[in-house]
Amino acid sequence: MPRCCVLCGAGGEGELCAGCERELPFNESCCARCAVPLPEAKGELLCGPCAQRPPPYDRALSLLRYAYPADKLIQKLKFNAQLHLARLLGERLAGYVARHVTQAPQVILPVPLHRTRLRERGFNQALELARPVARRLNIPLDYRSCARVRATAAQSLLPAAERRLNIKGAFQITRPLAARHAAIVDDVMTTGHTVEEFAATLRKAGVEKIEVWVLARAAP
Ligand SMILES: [Zn+2]
Ligand SMILES: [Zn+2]
Repeated sequence: MPRCCVLCGAGGEGELCAGCERELPFNESCCARCAVPLPEAKGELLCGPCAQRPPPYDRALSLLRYAYPADKLIQKLKFNAQLHLARLLGERLAGYVARHVTQAPQVILPVPLHRTRLRERGFNQALELARPVARRLNIPLDYRSCARVRATAAQSLLPAAERRLNIKGAFQITRPLAARHAAIVDDVMTTGHTVEEFAATLRKAGVEKIEVWVLARAAP
């Protein structure tokens, strides 16, 4: 049985029809460092915050902007547990990353979820997205060496000013990391505090080059 389009229900074209695919908001013009959407960014343009104080990772790549219909797809994946979307979106993310990465990282590290949240949701969307990326790019996936040791309030529910403090100290390296070059994978990046905190934790553990690969980037 051919699947219907998850967004508009059109039949016969697979999980995402050509019309909905065309509507996806690709993150074409963005900051060269943190991938925040910028109007008309050409070449290696940096956003204001990155120009002043670069984040603790080397570069973020985001396939999409967090806008319709990418937001709908991610919500379906995350809150309706439509895990087949992780494969669909993860493969597109892999294709995007492959076009931009010149030196492959030694390991892919999905942003860990706290065990309480993992129990509630039943899966870690970052890990589910990272699986097809790791497979397609042939890079080892490591989801056991890092943990989220503090159950934090959902970043999206907090005012921007409280988000950095909320995530501080949330991650821990539980086994020695051999990799010197790693890629962090997550679903959505908004203020960037979560991946910044995770990247800073990896840096302290000796990872020298850190990339961040996300599906969608929202303007903070
Ligand atoms: Zn459609
Ligand atoms: Zn930036």
